[in-house]
Amino acid sequence: MLGAVFFLAVNFVVAMSFSVVFVVVSTRSRSRRAALWFAAGFGVASLSALCELAVAFTAAPMFFALCAFATVLTGMLLLRIGLGEMYGLRISWWAAALFLLASIAMSIAIYDLPRGTPLQAFAYQTPFAWITMVSAIAVLSSARRLVIDRVLGILMLVTGVHFFAKASLAVIFGAGQVAKDYVGTHYALISQSMTGVLMVAVGLTLLSVLVLEIMAEERSSSETDALSGLANRRGFDRQVKAAFSRSNVDRHAVILCDLDHFKSINDTYGHHAGDAVIRAFADTISHSAPGGAILARIGGEEFAICLGNMPLDVAVLFAQTLRAATAAMIVPGMPATFRVTASFGVAPFTSIEDFEAVIRSADAALYAAKRGGRNRVQAAPEPFLPSRAAHLRPVR
Ligand code: GH3
Ligand code: MG
Ligand code: MG
Repeated sequence: MLGAVFFLAVNFVVAMSFSVVFVVVSTRSRSRRAALWFAAGFGVASLSALCELAVAFTAAPMFFALCAFATVLTGMLLLRIGLGEMYGLRISWWAAALFLLASIAMSIAIYDLPRGTPLQAFAYQTPFAWITMVSAIAVLSSARRLVIDRVLGILMLVTGVHFFAKASLAVIFGAGQVAKDYVGTHYALISQSMTGVLMVAVGLTLLSVLVLEIMAEERSSSETDALSGLANRRGFDRQVKAAFSRSNVDRHAVILCDLDHFKSINDTYGHHAGDAVIRAFADTISHSAPGGAILARIGGEEFAICLGNMPLDVAVLFAQTLRAATAAMIVPGMPATFRVTASFGVAPFTSIEDFEAVIRSADAALYAAKRGGRNRVQAAPEPFLPSRAAHLRPVR
Protein backbone atom coordinates (compact mmCIF):
# COMPACT_ATOMS: atom_id res chain seq x y z
CA MET A 1 0.00 0.00 0.00
CA LEU A 2 2.64 2.45 1.13
CA GLY A 3 4.83 1.64 -1.90
CA ALA A 4 2.16 2.66 -4.41
CA VAL A 5 1.29 5.79 -2.39
CA PHE A 6 4.98 6.66 -2.43
CA PHE A 7 5.17 6.25 -6.22
CA LEU A 8 1.99 8.29 -6.70
CA ALA A 9 3.49 11.10 -4.61
CA VAL A 10 6.77 10.89 -6.54
CA ASN A 11 4.96 10.92 -9.90
CA PHE A 12 2.97 13.95 -8.81
CA VAL A 13 6.09 15.91 -7.81
CA VAL A 14 8.03 14.85 -10.94
CA ALA A 15 5.19 15.77 -13.32
CA MET A 16 4.66 19.10 -11.56
CA SER A 17 8.40 19.85 -11.72
CA PHE A 18 8.41 19.15 -15.47
CA SER A 19 5.45 21.47 -15.83
CA VAL A 20 7.35 24.30 -14.11
CA VAL A 21 10.53 23.63 -16.12
CA PHE A 22 8.60 23.73 -19.42
CA VAL A 23 7.11 27.11 -18.45
CA VAL A 24 10.64 28.41 -17.73
CA VAL A 25 12.02 26.98 -21.00
CA SER A 26 9.12 28.53 -22.95
CA THR A 27 10.41 32.00 -22.10
CA ARG A 28 13.54 31.34 -24.20
CA SER A 29 12.26 28.89 -26.79
CA ARG A 30 11.32 29.50 -30.40
CA SER A 31 8.75 26.72 -29.85
CA ARG A 32 7.19 28.77 -27.06
CA ARG A 33 3.64 27.58 -27.61
CA ALA A 34 4.71 23.94 -27.78
CA ALA A 35 6.62 24.30 -24.47
CA LEU A 36 3.52 25.81 -22.84
CA TRP A 37 1.37 22.93 -24.12
CA PHE A 38 3.90 20.49 -22.62
CA ALA A 39 3.77 22.42 -19.32
CA ALA A 40 -0.03 22.18 -19.36
CA GLY A 41 0.14 18.48 -20.27
CA PHE A 42 2.45 17.56 -17.39
CA GLY A 43 0.54 19.85 -15.01
CA VAL A 44 -2.86 18.28 -15.79
CA ALA A 45 -1.46 14.72 -15.82
CA SER A 46 0.18 15.28 -12.41
CA LEU A 47 -3.33 15.72 -10.93
CA SER A 48 -4.11 12.08 -11.70
CA ALA A 49 -1.80 10.98 -8.86
CA LEU A 50 -3.85 13.09 -6.42
CA CYS A 51 -7.05 11.64 -7.86
CA GLU A 52 -5.74 8.06 -7.38
CA LEU A 53 -5.05 8.86 -3.72
CA ALA A 54 -8.53 10.37 -3.38
CA VAL A 55 -10.01 7.15 -4.82
CA ALA A 56 -8.42 5.20 -1.97
CA PHE A 57 -9.04 7.64 0.85
CA THR A 58 -12.34 9.44 0.12
CA ALA A 59 -15.98 8.46 -0.08
CA ALA A 60 -16.35 9.22 -3.80
CA PRO A 61 -14.13 6.60 -5.48
CA MET A 62 -15.97 6.51 -8.81
CA PHE A 63 -15.76 10.27 -9.32
CA PHE A 64 -12.06 10.39 -8.54
CA ALA A 65 -11.32 7.24 -10.57
CA LEU A 66 -12.90 8.92 -13.58
CA CYS A 67 -10.96 12.12 -12.80
CA ALA A 68 -7.70 10.09 -12.66
CA PHE A 69 -8.49 8.61 -16.08
CA ALA A 70 -9.53 11.96 -17.57
CA THR A 71 -6.55 13.93 -16.25
CA VAL A 72 -3.98 11.46 -17.62
CA LEU A 73 -5.71 11.35 -20.98
CA THR A 74 -6.11 15.15 -21.14
CA GLY A 75 -2.42 15.54 -20.24
CA MET A 76 -1.45 13.23 -23.09
CA LEU A 77 -3.74 15.06 -25.48
CA LEU A 78 -2.08 18.37 -24.49
CA LEU A 79 1.34 16.81 -25.15
CA ARG A 80 0.08 15.71 -28.57
CA ILE A 81 -1.09 19.28 -29.29
CA GLY A 82 2.35 20.60 -28.26
CA LEU A 83 4.10 18.02 -30.45
CA GLY A 84 1.82 19.07 -33.31
CA GLU A 85 2.95 22.69 -32.83
CA MET A 86 6.61 21.71 -32.75
CA TYR A 87 6.64 19.07 -35.48
CA GLY A 88 4.15 20.80 -37.76
CA LEU A 89 1.41 18.18 -37.50
CA ARG A 90 -1.51 19.89 -35.83
CA ILE A 91 -4.62 17.95 -34.83
CA SER A 92 -8.20 19.04 -35.23
CA TRP A 93 -9.78 20.41 -32.05
CA TRP A 94 -12.99 18.59 -32.90
CA ALA A 95 -11.21 15.25 -33.21
CA ALA A 96 -9.37 15.85 -29.91
CA ALA A 97 -12.56 16.80 -28.02
CA LEU A 98 -14.48 13.89 -29.52
CA PHE A 99 -11.70 11.45 -28.63
CA LEU A 100 -11.60 12.73 -25.04
CA LEU A 101 -15.37 12.61 -24.53
CA ALA A 102 -15.71 9.17 -26.15
CA SER A 103 -12.88 7.81 -23.98
CA ILE A 104 -14.42 9.22 -20.78
CA ALA A 105 -17.81 7.77 -21.77
CA MET A 106 -16.11 4.41 -22.34
CA SER A 107 -14.38 4.57 -18.94
CA ILE A 108 -17.78 5.21 -17.28
CA ALA A 109 -19.25 2.28 -19.21
CA ILE A 110 -16.54 -0.15 -18.07
CA TYR A 111 -16.35 1.15 -14.49
CA ASP A 112 -18.56 -1.62 -13.09
CA LEU A 113 -16.97 -4.44 -15.10
CA PRO A 114 -14.93 -6.85 -12.98
CA ARG A 115 -11.45 -5.30 -12.64
CA GLY A 116 -8.52 -7.18 -14.10
CA THR A 117 -10.53 -8.96 -16.82
CA PRO A 118 -9.02 -8.61 -20.31
CA LEU A 119 -11.98 -6.55 -21.55
CA GLN A 120 -11.84 -4.09 -18.64
CA ALA A 121 -8.04 -3.82 -18.54
CA PHE A 122 -7.48 -3.39 -22.29
CA ALA A 123 -10.47 -1.05 -22.74
CA TYR A 124 -9.10 1.14 -19.92
CA GLN A 125 -5.55 1.33 -21.31
CA THR A 126 -6.31 1.53 -25.06
CA PRO A 127 -7.03 5.33 -25.21
CA PHE A 128 -3.67 6.03 -23.48
CA ALA A 129 -1.83 3.66 -25.83
CA TRP A 130 -3.60 5.11 -28.85
CA ILE A 131 -2.91 8.80 -28.16
CA THR A 132 0.74 8.08 -27.28
CA MET A 133 1.26 6.07 -30.45
CA VAL A 134 -0.43 8.76 -32.54
CA SER A 135 2.05 11.24 -30.99
CA ALA A 136 4.96 8.86 -31.72
CA ILE A 137 3.90 8.53 -35.37
CA ALA A 138 3.55 12.33 -35.65
CA VAL A 139 7.13 12.76 -34.40
CA LEU A 140 8.62 9.93 -36.47
CA SER A 141 6.94 10.99 -39.71
CA SER A 142 7.78 14.69 -39.39
CA ALA A 143 10.42 16.47 -41.46
CA ARG A 144 12.61 17.02 -38.37
CA ARG A 145 15.07 14.16 -38.36
CA LEU A 146 17.68 14.88 -35.70
CA VAL A 147 18.78 11.95 -33.53
CA ILE A 148 16.95 13.46 -30.57
CA ASP A 149 13.70 13.57 -32.59
CA ARG A 150 14.10 9.88 -33.45
CA VAL A 151 14.78 9.07 -29.79
CA LEU A 152 11.65 10.94 -28.75
CA GLY A 153 9.50 9.16 -31.37
CA ILE A 154 10.80 5.71 -30.39
CA LEU A 155 10.42 6.46 -26.68
CA MET A 156 6.80 7.46 -27.25
CA LEU A 157 6.19 4.25 -29.21
CA VAL A 158 7.59 2.26 -26.27
CA THR A 159 5.39 4.27 -23.91
CA GLY A 160 2.36 3.50 -26.09
CA VAL A 161 3.15 -0.24 -26.03
CA HIS A 162 3.72 -0.11 -22.25
CA PHE A 163 0.02 0.67 -21.73
CA PHE A 164 -0.86 -2.69 -23.27
CA ALA A 165 1.78 -4.30 -21.05
CA LYS A 166 0.04 -2.64 -18.10
CA ALA A 167 -3.30 -4.12 -19.19
CA SER A 168 -1.68 -7.58 -19.38
CA LEU A 169 -0.18 -7.13 -15.90
CA ALA A 170 -3.58 -6.11 -14.52
CA VAL A 171 -4.99 -9.35 -15.93
CA ILE A 172 -2.12 -11.43 -14.49
CA PHE A 173 -1.75 -9.82 -11.06
CA GLY A 174 -5.28 -8.41 -10.62
CA ALA A 175 -6.03 -4.74 -10.07
CA GLY A 176 -8.15 -5.08 -6.91
CA GLN A 177 -11.84 -5.98 -6.57
CA VAL A 178 -12.98 -2.35 -6.67
CA ALA A 179 -11.29 0.95 -7.58
CA LYS A 180 -10.59 1.65 -3.90
CA ASP A 181 -8.37 -1.48 -3.70
CA TYR A 182 -6.10 -0.40 -6.59
CA VAL A 183 -3.57 1.52 -4.53
CA GLY A 184 -2.94 -1.53 -2.31
CA THR A 185 -2.17 -3.95 -5.17
CA HIS A 186 1.20 -5.15 -6.50
CA TYR A 187 -0.13 -4.11 -9.87
CA ALA A 188 -0.39 -0.46 -8.70
CA LEU A 189 3.22 -0.56 -7.56
CA ILE A 190 4.52 -1.96 -10.86
CA SER A 191 2.20 0.21 -12.93
CA GLN A 192 3.07 3.49 -11.17
CA SER A 193 6.81 2.79 -11.23
CA MET A 194 6.78 1.89 -14.95
CA THR A 195 4.78 4.99 -15.76
CA GLY A 196 7.06 7.12 -13.55
CA VAL A 197 10.21 5.96 -15.35
CA LEU A 198 8.70 6.50 -18.81
CA MET A 199 7.29 9.89 -17.80
CA VAL A 200 10.76 11.04 -16.71
CA ALA A 201 12.32 9.67 -19.92
CA VAL A 202 9.73 11.38 -22.18
CA GLY A 203 9.92 14.62 -20.15
CA LEU A 204 13.73 14.74 -20.30
CA THR A 205 13.77 13.96 -24.03
CA LEU A 206 11.21 16.67 -24.74
CA LEU A 207 13.30 19.08 -22.69
CA SER A 208 16.42 18.06 -24.63
CA VAL A 209 14.63 18.77 -27.92
CA LEU A 210 13.73 22.27 -26.71
CA VAL A 211 17.13 23.00 -25.15
CA LEU A 212 19.00 21.82 -28.28
CA GLU A 213 16.72 24.07 -30.33
CA ILE A 214 17.55 27.04 -28.07
CA MET A 215 21.29 26.25 -28.29
CA ALA A 216 21.15 26.03 -32.10
CA GLU A 217 19.29 29.34 -32.22
CA GLU A 218 21.81 31.03 -29.89
CA ARG A 219 24.69 29.73 -31.96
CA SER A 220 23.10 30.84 -35.19
CA SER A 221 22.48 34.37 -33.85
CA SER A 222 26.01 34.59 -32.43
CA GLU A 223 27.31 33.63 -35.89
CA THR A 224 25.06 35.90 -37.93
CA ASP A 225 25.64 39.52 -38.90
CA ALA A 226 22.44 41.40 -38.10
CA LEU A 227 22.81 44.06 -40.81
CA SER A 228 23.46 41.86 -43.84
CA GLY A 229 21.90 38.59 -42.62
CA LEU A 230 25.08 36.78 -43.76
CA ALA A 231 27.43 34.90 -41.43
CA ASN A 232 29.89 36.96 -39.39
CA ARG A 233 33.60 36.11 -39.10
CA ARG A 234 32.97 33.52 -36.38
CA GLY A 235 30.23 31.83 -38.44
CA PHE A 236 32.41 31.95 -41.56
CA ASP A 237 35.34 30.26 -39.80
CA ARG A 238 33.13 27.53 -38.32
CA GLN A 239 31.30 26.83 -41.57
CA VAL A 240 34.55 26.69 -43.54
CA LYS A 241 36.06 24.31 -40.99
CA ALA A 242 32.95 22.09 -41.08
CA ALA A 243 32.79 22.05 -44.89
CA PHE A 244 36.46 21.59 -45.77
CA SER A 245 38.09 19.76 -42.87
CA ARG A 246 38.15 16.47 -44.78
CA SER A 247 39.05 17.81 -48.20
CA ASN A 248 42.66 18.05 -49.33
CA VAL A 249 42.62 17.13 -53.02
CA ASP A 250 39.90 19.28 -54.57
CA ARG A 251 40.55 22.86 -55.59
CA HIS A 252 38.62 25.54 -53.80
CA ALA A 253 38.72 29.32 -53.71
CA VAL A 254 38.15 32.24 -51.37
CA ILE A 255 37.07 35.66 -52.57
CA LEU A 256 37.48 38.74 -50.37
CA CYS A 257 35.47 41.78 -51.48
CA ASP A 258 35.64 45.34 -50.22
CA LEU A 259 33.34 48.19 -51.25
CA ASP A 260 35.24 51.06 -52.87
CA HIS A 261 35.35 54.53 -51.30
CA PHE A 262 32.71 53.47 -48.84
CA LYS A 263 33.71 56.14 -46.35
CA SER A 264 32.75 58.82 -48.86
CA ILE A 265 29.27 57.21 -49.28
CA ASN A 266 28.79 57.55 -45.51
CA ASP A 267 30.16 61.10 -45.59
CA THR A 268 27.97 62.15 -48.53
CA TYR A 269 24.68 60.34 -47.89
CA GLY A 270 24.89 59.45 -44.21
CA HIS A 271 25.50 56.27 -42.23
CA HIS A 272 21.99 55.02 -42.95
CA ALA A 273 22.66 55.09 -46.70
CA GLY A 274 25.94 53.24 -46.06
CA ASP A 275 23.96 50.52 -44.27
CA ALA A 276 21.55 50.26 -47.24
CA VAL A 277 24.55 49.77 -49.56
CA ILE A 278 25.91 46.98 -47.31
CA ARG A 279 22.50 45.24 -47.39
CA ALA A 280 22.17 45.63 -51.17
CA PHE A 281 25.68 44.23 -51.73
CA ALA A 282 24.93 41.27 -49.42
CA ASP A 283 21.75 40.59 -51.45
CA THR A 284 23.71 40.75 -54.69
CA ILE A 285 26.27 38.18 -53.60
CA SER A 286 23.57 35.96 -52.04
CA HIS A 287 21.63 35.87 -55.30
CA SER A 288 24.68 35.34 -57.49
CA ALA A 289 26.61 32.77 -55.43
CA PRO A 290 26.27 29.09 -56.27
CA GLY A 291 24.49 26.81 -53.75
CA GLY A 292 26.87 25.65 -51.05
CA ALA A 293 28.97 28.83 -51.16
CA ILE A 294 29.80 30.17 -47.70
CA LEU A 295 29.08 33.90 -47.52
CA ALA A 296 30.03 36.27 -44.73
CA ARG A 297 30.41 39.90 -43.81
CA ILE A 298 33.75 39.79 -42.05
CA GLY A 299 34.30 43.51 -41.48
CA GLY A 300 32.62 46.89 -41.92
CA GLU A 301 32.34 46.83 -45.72
CA GLU A 302 34.36 43.70 -46.30
CA PHE A 303 32.88 40.36 -47.35
CA ALA A 304 34.20 36.83 -47.86
CA ILE A 305 32.95 34.08 -50.16
CA CYS A 306 34.24 30.53 -49.89
CA LEU A 307 33.60 28.38 -52.96
CA GLY A 308 34.03 24.62 -52.79
CA ASN A 309 35.24 22.65 -55.83
CA MET A 310 35.98 25.74 -57.86
CA PRO A 311 39.37 26.21 -59.53
CA LEU A 312 40.97 29.64 -59.38
CA ASP A 313 40.19 30.64 -62.98
CA VAL A 314 36.46 29.86 -62.54
CA ALA A 315 36.39 31.72 -59.20
CA VAL A 316 37.98 34.73 -60.93
CA LEU A 317 35.25 34.62 -63.61
CA PHE A 318 32.62 34.48 -60.85
CA ALA A 319 34.24 37.48 -59.11
CA GLN A 320 34.12 39.35 -62.41
CA THR A 321 30.37 38.65 -62.65
CA LEU A 322 29.95 39.96 -59.11
CA ARG A 323 31.99 43.04 -59.89
CA ALA A 324 29.73 43.83 -62.88
CA ALA A 325 26.57 43.12 -60.86
CA THR A 326 27.78 45.47 -58.11
CA ALA A 327 28.50 48.28 -60.55
CA ALA A 328 24.95 47.87 -61.96
CA MET A 329 23.32 47.52 -58.54
CA ILE A 330 20.34 49.76 -57.67
CA VAL A 331 20.38 50.60 -53.96
CA PRO A 332 16.89 51.10 -52.45
CA GLY A 333 16.40 54.65 -51.16
CA MET A 334 19.34 56.06 -53.13
CA PRO A 335 19.16 58.27 -56.26
CA ALA A 336 18.78 56.28 -59.50
CA THR A 337 22.15 57.58 -60.67
CA PHE A 338 23.93 56.35 -57.54
CA ARG A 339 26.53 53.70 -58.27
CA VAL A 340 28.90 51.76 -56.06
CA THR A 341 31.82 49.53 -57.00
CA ALA A 342 33.81 46.86 -55.19
CA SER A 343 37.25 45.30 -55.46
CA PHE A 344 37.95 41.58 -55.25
CA GLY A 345 40.92 39.41 -54.23
CA VAL A 346 40.74 35.71 -55.10
CA ALA A 347 42.95 32.99 -53.59
CA PRO A 348 42.94 29.23 -54.26
CA PHE A 349 43.32 26.48 -51.65
CA THR A 350 43.10 22.74 -51.36
CA SER A 351 43.29 22.31 -47.62
CA ILE A 352 42.26 24.51 -44.71
CA GLU A 353 45.28 23.48 -42.66
CA ASP A 354 46.64 26.99 -42.98
CA PHE A 355 43.45 28.86 -43.81
CA GLU A 356 44.81 32.05 -42.20
CA ALA A 357 47.53 32.09 -44.87
CA VAL A 358 44.88 31.62 -47.59
CA ILE A 359 42.95 34.61 -46.23
CA ARG A 360 46.18 36.65 -46.09
CA SER A 361 46.86 35.72 -49.69
CA ALA A 362 43.31 36.79 -50.78
CA ASP A 363 43.74 39.99 -48.76
CA ALA A 364 47.03 40.76 -50.52
CA ALA A 365 45.28 40.24 -53.88
CA LEU A 366 42.44 42.54 -52.76
CA TYR A 367 44.98 45.17 -51.73
CA ALA A 368 46.58 44.84 -55.17
CA ALA A 369 43.14 45.33 -56.79
CA LYS A 370 42.68 48.52 -54.73
CA ARG A 371 46.11 49.79 -55.68
CA GLY A 372 45.41 48.91 -59.31
CA GLY A 373 42.55 51.42 -59.40
CA ARG A 374 39.62 49.64 -57.63
CA ASN A 375 36.51 48.12 -59.29
CA ARG A 376 38.63 45.16 -60.35
CA VAL A 377 39.43 41.52 -59.62
CA GLN A 378 42.91 40.32 -58.72
CA ALA A 379 43.91 36.65 -58.40
CA ALA A 380 46.54 35.47 -55.94
CA PRO A 381 49.22 33.18 -57.41
CA GLU A 382 48.40 29.44 -57.44
CA PRO A 383 50.49 27.70 -54.79
CA PHE A 384 52.94 25.04 -55.97
CA LEU A 385 51.31 21.64 -55.49
CA PRO A 386 53.73 18.66 -55.39
CA SER A 387 50.80 16.26 -56.17
CA ARG A 388 50.23 18.02 -59.47
CA ALA A 389 53.94 18.32 -60.25
CA ALA A 390 54.04 14.50 -60.54
CA HIS A 391 51.94 14.76 -63.71
CA LEU A 392 54.30 17.25 -65.36
CA ARG A 393 56.84 15.94 -67.85
CA PRO A 394 60.40 16.64 -66.77
CA VAL A 395 61.96 19.46 -68.74
CA ARG A 396 65.14 18.43 -70.52
P1 GH3 B 1 38.62 51.79 -49.97
O1 GH3 B 1 38.12 52.03 -51.34
O2 GH3 B 1 40.13 51.89 -49.92
O3 GH3 B 1 38.14 50.51 -49.40
O4 GH3 B 1 38.09 52.96 -49.08
P2 GH3 B 1 36.90 52.92 -48.05
O5 GH3 B 1 36.44 54.32 -47.82
O6 GH3 B 1 35.89 51.97 -48.54
O7 GH3 B 1 37.58 52.28 -46.79
P3 GH3 B 1 37.85 52.84 -45.33
O8 GH3 B 1 38.47 51.70 -44.61
O9 GH3 B 1 38.63 54.12 -45.41
O10 GH3 B 1 36.45 53.17 -44.75
C1 GH3 B 1 35.53 52.18 -44.40
C2 GH3 B 1 34.36 52.85 -43.74
O11 GH3 B 1 33.30 51.94 -43.50
C3 GH3 B 1 34.72 53.45 -42.40
C4 GH3 B 1 33.58 53.09 -41.50
O12 GH3 B 1 33.04 54.20 -40.87
C5 GH3 B 1 32.55 52.49 -42.42
N1 GH3 B 1 31.77 51.46 -41.81
C6 GH3 B 1 32.20 50.37 -41.12
N2 GH3 B 1 31.16 49.59 -40.71
C7 GH3 B 1 30.04 50.24 -41.13
C8 GH3 B 1 28.63 49.96 -41.00
O13 GH3 B 1 28.21 48.95 -40.42
N3 GH3 B 1 27.77 50.83 -41.57
C9 GH3 B 1 28.19 51.94 -42.22
N4 GH3 B 1 27.28 52.73 -42.75
N5 GH3 B 1 29.50 52.24 -42.33
C10 GH3 B 1 30.42 51.41 -41.82
MG1 MG C 1 36.40 49.92 -48.67
MG1 MG D 1 37.63 47.96 -45.79
